[in-house]
Amino acid sequence: MNTDNRHIVHFDLDSFFVSVERLMNSRLNGMPVIVGGMSDRGVVAACSYEARKFGVHSAMPMKLARRLCPHAFYVRGDMDEYSRYSRIVTQIIEESAPLYEKASIDEHYLDLTGMDRFFGCLKWSHELRSKIIRESGLPISFGLSVNKTVSKIATGEANQTVRSKCCMRR
Ligand SMILES: [Mg+2]
Repeated sequence: MNTDNRHIVHFDLDSFFVSVERLMNSRLNGMPVIVGGMSDRGVVAACSYEARKFGVHSAMPMKLARRLCPHAFYVRGDMDEYSRYSRIVTQIIEESAPLYEKASIDEHYLDLTGMDRFFGCLKWSHELRSKIIRESGLPISFGLSVNKTVSKIATGEANQTVRSKCCMRR
C-alpha cells in the first residue's frame, strides 16, 4: 500500500493528570498545579502550563520544583482515577473509530485510511475531539498526517497553539 495515502490521527489529552485533578477540584483551574511524589526523592509526574512557566517540567525532582514554584498546588496524584478517565476516552474513541491503538494512558492513534478523502478526515477528527471534550470534560489535541511520527509532532504543535487545537501536516 502506498503510505502517502494513509490518514493517521494522533490524539493526546492536554496535561492529562492535571486536567483530571481540575475536574475533581475546580479551584485548581488557572493555577500552577504539580502532580507527583511528595517524598524527598519524589519526581514531578505532570504539571500545568502555569507551573511550566516557572521552569517546572515532568521527571524533575520534586525538591527542585518546590524551589522554582513554591506557590503551586501540589497533588500526590491518583492513578486509579486517571486510569478511569483514560478508559472513558478510549471508550469514546472505540465507539467512533474503525481502527485505533492506545499508545499510552493519554494518547491514541487512529487509522482513518480509506474512511474518506483527507479533508473529510480532518472534519471527522474535529468532531471526535469535540465529542471527547463534551463527554469526558477533558481538553485534548490532535494532529493529522500520513504517519504516526508526523502526526505526533503535529499534535505537539497544536498543543502549543491556544486558539487552534489541531494541526494538519501533509
Ligand atoms: Mg498528553
